[in-house]
Amino acid sequence: MELIYRSTRNANETATASQAILKGLANEGGLFVPDSIPALDVSLEDLAKMNYQQVAYEVMKLMFTDFTEAELKHCIDSAYDSKFDTPVIAPLVNKAGAYYLELFHGSTIAFKDMALSILPYLLTTSAKKNGVKNEIVILTATSGDTGKAALAGFADVPGTKIIVFYPKHGVSPIQEKQMVTQKGDNTFVVGITGNFDDAQTGVKKMFSDAELAKYMDEKGYQFSSANSINIGRLVPQMVYYVYAYTRLVADGTIKAGDKINVDVPTGNFGNILAAYYAKEMGLPIAKFICASNDNKVLFDFFQTGTYDRNREFILTTSPSMDILISSNLERLIYKIAGNDAEKNSELMKELTTDGVYTITDDMKAKLAEFYGGYATEAETAATIKKVYESDDYIIDTHTAVAATVYEKYVAETGDKTPTVIASTASPYKFTRSVMNAIDPEYDSKTDFELVDELEKLSGVKVPQAIEDIRSAKVLHDTVCDKEDMLAEVKGFLNI
Ligand SMILES: *Cc1c(COP(=O)(O)O)cnc(C)c1O
Repeated sequence: MELIYRSTRNANETATASQAILKGLANEGGLFVPDSIPALDVSLEDLAKMNYQQVAYEVMKLMFTDFTEAELKHCIDSAYDSKFDTPVIAPLVNKAGAYYLELFHGSTIAFKDMALSILPYLLTTSAKKNGVKNEIVILTATSGDTGKAALAGFADVPGTKIIVFYPKHGVSPIQEKQMVTQKGDNTFVVGITGNFDDAQTGVKKMFSDAELAKYMDEKGYQFSSANSINIGRLVPQMVYYVYAYTRLVADGTIKAGDKINVDVPTGNFGNILAAYYAKEMGLPIAKFICASNDNKVLFDFFQTGTYDRNREFILTTSPSMDILISSNLERLIYKIAGNDAEKNSELMKELTTDGVYTITDDMKAKLAEFYGGYATEAETAATIKKVYESDDYIIDTHTAVAATVYEKYVAETGDKTPTVIASTASPYKFTRSVMNAIDPEYDSKTDFELVDELEKLSGVKVPQAIEDIRSAKVLHDTVCDKEDMLAEVKGFLNI
């Protein structure tokens, strides 16, 4: 049966999976959500015997029902190959009382690779299926990691161009270097003088500009999104929760059907929403632990039922979580409003105009599976040091936010349920913050000296992604005001 996707802001706007992937965002700023989430039709025991690619197929076939088996397997096999530095793709390691799901073994050493390595294949396949003749322009706002992962995924993919906007002073030096050294004639990287929310707002504005879309179409282009609002990113992220769970079954830690918790360092709410969707598909998950840094808008939301973005934007050592508008939360709001596009639209309008909305008590009652927590900068650093000293295991700053919140959760609840922590970046991506956490003396060293020190300390070989940028040339040096984003896009496309 064909699964239909529907806009969170207009019940009459529907799409097939491939149409939703192509479009990225629905009209009027809505997000595409599946009408229902089909149940897994293979047992958890059988999934436990499968490899990553096979699990991926079993999950994605249920969500992307208009793809043929051959199309889907082509996408999966093209994505999850030797670009990953381990054949298991997403290793699950038991350290410091939790199960760390290492999602950073892809080409840009952050979890965005898990979805962005497959999105170009899903997108080009979707274009073919829908008879699209236009060239596809991927327009992306990034807080650091999406940008590079999208660039790496789309570079030199025929029929596509990719434009990435990032906050000029809001990403780590290594993140910036990774992006501005990106090769590929179809790539364009622009720093903006603003924060991530400014970049995201600018991109969303271009997406929802109907006149611009018409003009682009005349010129042979159409926009699509690689941001985590695209279901072509969300669905591949469901896979690794099913994979992690079934590894715990395979090694006898749990029996099929036992519950686990998942703990996710959260920014745009995509990763944790994928876990929530995986539960809807039948994965036994008890609690979703939503971990924030000092930008704790989600923590406050789970406490009070009020989402309030009117607050200071704080730059932290976990920049990929420095977000005040968690776009994917809209999909959860829509769900707990009873799949009510009208109610959801009202709330989202309030968010746009006043920067704040409050959900009803009924809606709040449906959030009982979520636990919101946050970690301060000092706590995050202390956790990195502690996990290193206890387990000889070095985690990155984002993962450390989640680990800190997990510790608070256990202290508060006494819950001993086995917990999978989404480990979202390699410590090599945030070397300075990580090394400073272990010993502030390191701060006098250069970035690449620190990389070598980290290798000595961790015993983990320097990843290829880092070696690649040691000597790479800067190929992108455009910086613009947030008001000038559209002009930059037109300039790059020559239209
Ligand atoms: C993007 C990112 C996050 C946040 O993930 P969301 O899906 O946006 O909630 C956390 N950690 C790292 C390293 C990231 O790159």
